[in-house]
Amino acid sequence: MLSFWEKILFSLVILATAGAFIYPVYLRIQILRRGRPEMRGGAFWRRMGDTLAKVFLQKCTLKRERVFTGFMHVFIFYGALTFDTMTVNHTLEGYFDKFYLFGQTGFGLLFSFIVDLFAVLVVIGAAFFAFRRFIVRPKAYRTTLFDSALIYILLVIVTLSYLYFEAFAIAAHPETARWSILGKYLSAGLTGLPAGTLAAHFKISWWLHVLIVFGFIAYVPHSKYFHMFTGPVNVFFRNPDSRRELQPIDIEKAEVFGTEKALDLTWKDYLDAFACMECGRCQDVCPAFASGKPLSPKMIIFNLENHLLVQRRNLAPGKRDDLPPLFPDVHAEGEIWTCTTCGACQHVCPVEIEHIRKIVGVRQSEVLMQSRFPQELNAFFRNMESNSNPWGIGFSKRADWTEGLDVPVMAERGSTEYLLWVGCAGSFDEHGIEIAKAMVTILKKAGLDFAILGAEEKCCGDSARRLGQEYLFQTLAAENIGLFAKYQVKKIITFCPHGFNTFKNEYPKLRGLLPDIPEKEQARLAEIEVIPHVALIEPLLKDGRIAVRLKGAARMTYHDSCYYGRHNGMIAEPRRIIAALAPGAFRELKNNREHSFCCGAGGGLMWTEESLGRRINHLRTEEVIASGAEVAATSCPFCLNMLTDGLKDKEKGDIKVKDLAQLVADSLA
Ligand code: SF4
Ligand code: SF4
Repeated sequence: MLSFWEKILFSLVILATAGAFIYPVYLRIQILRRGRPEMRGGAFWRRMGDTLAKVFLQKCTLKRERVFTGFMHVFIFYGALTFDTMTVNHTLEGYFDKFYLFGQTGFGLLFSFIVDLFAVLVVIGAAFFAFRRFIVRPKAYRTTLFDSALIYILLVIVTLSYLYFEAFAIAAHPETARWSILGKYLSAGLTGLPAGTLAAHFKISWWLHVLIVFGFIAYVPHSKYFHMFTGPVNVFFRNPDSRRELQPIDIEKAEVFGTEKALDLTWKDYLDAFACMECGRCQDVCPAFASGKPLSPKMIIFNLENHLLVQRRNLAPGKRDDLPPLFPDVHAEGEIWTCTTCGACQHVCPVEIEHIRKIVGVRQSEVLMQSRFPQELNAFFRNMESNSNPWGIGFSKRADWTEGLDVPVMAERGSTEYLLWVGCAGSFDEHGIEIAKAMVTILKKAGLDFAILGAEEKCCGDSARRLGQEYLFQTLAAENIGLFAKYQVKKIITFCPHGFNTFKNEYPKLRGLLPDIPEKEQARLAEIEVIPHVALIEPLLKDGRIAVRLKGAARMTYHDSCYYGRHNGMIAEPRRIIAALAPGAFRELKNNREHSFCCGAGGGLMWTEESLGRRINHLRTEEVIASGAEVAATSCPFCLNMLTDGLKDKEKGDIKVKDLAQLVADSLA
């Protein structure tokens, strides 16, 4: 199709495009190579299968939060794949006359139809996103407006230039029409034009389309559209457990604690930054953002990417001293200290970006290296260090709540089938103590062999860890693990989701880092069965080991705690307990199940002042009020406190907030 000199010129265009594409990719690879090492990528075939399913079935974008938007993304995604294939065809067509990738096959006919179909769908998709971004203007979309506009314009003119070419190609060579319905329709208007005119337009339109497409390709690595390459790679290397588990620091060996500078991040953190598609889904579901705080998980990632690119000359050669600290240069105080670690952001992110560890990493650096943290945490850390609980009440008083209840204690029993973990709230908080008493009633009624640790028990360390005090966390963990070893604990019942998550998912990962605990006991941690109270009570009811009198017609709702629900999949059990208590009286909150909205206490924020924006518990309380429920069931002492306070603030104290254990214990037959 092209003359000799045109082929030379076209080859130069290809080389220039390849250079413009490869150079920014090379820069990013140089940055990625500077990231700290991190093992990812085990279970290769499972990862690959999941990634292909997420990408090609678009499970990544067709999520509940934005199904319609997801479909528009499907149009653009498959449109891009189709036009990428056509670009290969066009390129070869330049060198080989009348080249067609799929020859005279049935698929070749079908493909010509698919291209026309996606020519229409891509324009619809681009128009939809342009309308959303520039007319509706949701907060989630307010970054890189110029980049977005350019992408939409390029998508449309790539499509239009293709149709221009296709119409003249079919008019000049009708045998190439195949099943191109749109091309045939457009070319019908060209009948009667002189052959010379058709031939001239055929070539001009070919060059025009090819130059626009190659310009687009050269622009891609400079834009957020680059996520079409980095996104699937990021999905492949995902770690869904990073929502609920923090990586332990080797206190003995680490030279830097947490994330002071970008060089303290791993290559996966850098990849996260390069994979963000700026969709803003994470921001939409973030309770901190929704309550008007300065934290947007999207901006955490967006600002990190900009920092990496701006600092690449210091980053790539590893010039640590020339790098500015991430805090406060990249992440501000109001961002770092307002995250509840609820994991809603990670749950909805289409490309599996891990926000929480970046935020907690900066907290660790601030607390452990700089001794800087919100002033009110002074009391929290002091109390934890002196009495191993956030309230600072003498540790010897930990079992005072059992007075007159005849609760078995491990020190007297030696060992039992179950250890009932009471936790700090269960020991010292007035609402938590009521839950602890309810649990004792249920366990006794069910005839289970259990005991508590009493005054020996220490805080599980969840809040300390999420507030960045990893050293304190590991100290508390070592003391508790020592007790598990002393009493050869095999089963732990928790009624606090934070304790549950910590014992089940985080203590076993400390293996090898606890010099005072024998290796055999560290290895045994993964074998200890940790049972959340909702998963214990539900089968007790089902098997008839405990029976309840049916409640009256009180309308009930349930607030899913982040650490039972989204983080650990305890979704069905609480609902089955409610169904056993009050059949037909249940109503869901607006945000429910995996999409639950945090109460505001997670991530250690129970112990900070919520001075920025609205109170998160007020937002959740409004959902409780809107549900019309008379009783709000919870399964976490922190959530119970937050909802109780929120309802009191809203003068809705008539709506009762009770833990599921209390509701069951109150109804025991
Ligand atoms: S974990 Fe929760 S609070 Fe923290 S950034 Fe993500 S959505 Fe926001
Ligand atoms: S982090 Fe994920 S959810 Fe948030 S804007 Fe980026 S791609 Fe979207």
